[in-house]
Amino acid sequence: MANDVLFLAEFAGGRAARSALELATGSAELAAAAGGQAVGLAYGAGAAAGAAALGAQGAARVIVLGGDDRPAITYAAALAAAVREADALALLAPATPNGRDLAAALVGLLDLPAFGPVRAARVADGTVETEQATLQGSVITTARPAEGADTPSIILVLPNTFTPTEGAAGSAEVIQAADAGDSPFGHAKVVESHQADARVANLDEATVIVAGGRGVGSEAGFGILRELAGVLGGAVGASRAAADAGWIAYQLQIGQTGKVVKPQLYLGAGISGAIQHRVGMQTAEHVVAINRDPDAPIGEFADLFVVGDLFQIVPALTEEIRRRKA
Ligand SMILES: Cc1cc2nc3c(=O)[nH]c(=O)nc-3n(C[C@H](O)[C@H](O)[C@H](O)COP(=O)(O)OP(=O)(O)OC[C@H]3O[C@@H](n4cnc5c(N)ncnc54)[C@H](O)[C@@H]3O)c2cc1C
Repeated sequence: MANDVLFLAEFAGGRAARSALELATGSAELAAAAGGQAVGLAYGAGAAAGAAALGAQGAARVIVLGGDDRPAITYAAALAAAVREADALALLAPATPNGRDLAAALVGLLDLPAFGPVRAARVADGTVETEQATLQGSVITTARPAEGADTPSIILVLPNTFTPTEGAAGSAEVIQAADAGDSPFGHAKVVESHQADARVANLDEATVIVAGGRGVGSEAGFGILRELAGVLGGAVGASRAAADAGWIAYQLQIGQTGKVVKPQLYLGAGISGAIQHRVGMQTAEHVVAINRDPDAPIGEFADLFVVGDLFQIVPALTEEIRRRKA
């Protein structure tokens, strides 16, 4: 019976993406429950050198598909060949642009059942059961592959669903994947690379997000949110109202037509909590909201609702955190 759990391990710039560490840990947890092993499928610059280190997060083996700086989709054929060979219960892929591309290619090439993006996954009755938000987040759906469905299930996993194991020792066995021959996507290549704005790039992976809405009032108003995010080691996000106003980049919009985030702490300032925003952040572990309207909808689902003026509360909070850290 297939009981190993595969995971996609993306490398870039010589190091493993945070998603690779999260999924290694998650796969190890699922594999332990299924009586199998966690097996990584690594690709990207630095994959060959960094693969063994995923053992610290619980990977027993890592198959290196390739270590070049190529578009992720060009690894689809090698990935499909490795997945076919592996006979695993499930494959976890990160719900990132590259993860989505590769997961979709796999489902197309191998005709496998697909789930996600999920916010939880566990082993139940010999299969992997997942949880995902549907109907704009108003319903949480639990899903499993149909009885007798092909394996592995391809499962897209939201950032921060699993917390990477830290401080453990361990070295995974590293296997070089066999040449998969021509890839249906093999002609794609990197033409030019640009350094993304770090504040934009890390929203997906941030464990702390400080988000601002219409109440922030201006582009300059986001300055105090950046300071707070800075002392908390977090990233800045926004509601659509703030992005539409041109105060902040659209890539930082959270919600139905923006990003779905899953930080440990989401702090929203000057955000009313409309359903279209909520669907993008409601899986945050802790929600803190600052709003001067005591009846703002966000107060209904925040763990801590602070009623007051964000322009007084946010700088005072930043100062207090600085003082305690000093
Ligand atoms: C199809 C569709 C898709 C959408 N997709 C998204 C999406 O992806 N993401 C998204 O966010 N929205 C989305 N929206 C828009 C959504 O419906 C809301 O309009 C939007 O989220 C409101 O943003 P906001 O909370 O910043 O603004 P508002 O609803 O105007 O709220 C501003 C809040 O700030 C408070 N405030 C004002 N001044 C202060 C102050 N000084 N101190 C403290 N609080 C203050 C006010 O009390 C108020 O609660 C979508 C809408 C549609 C129709």
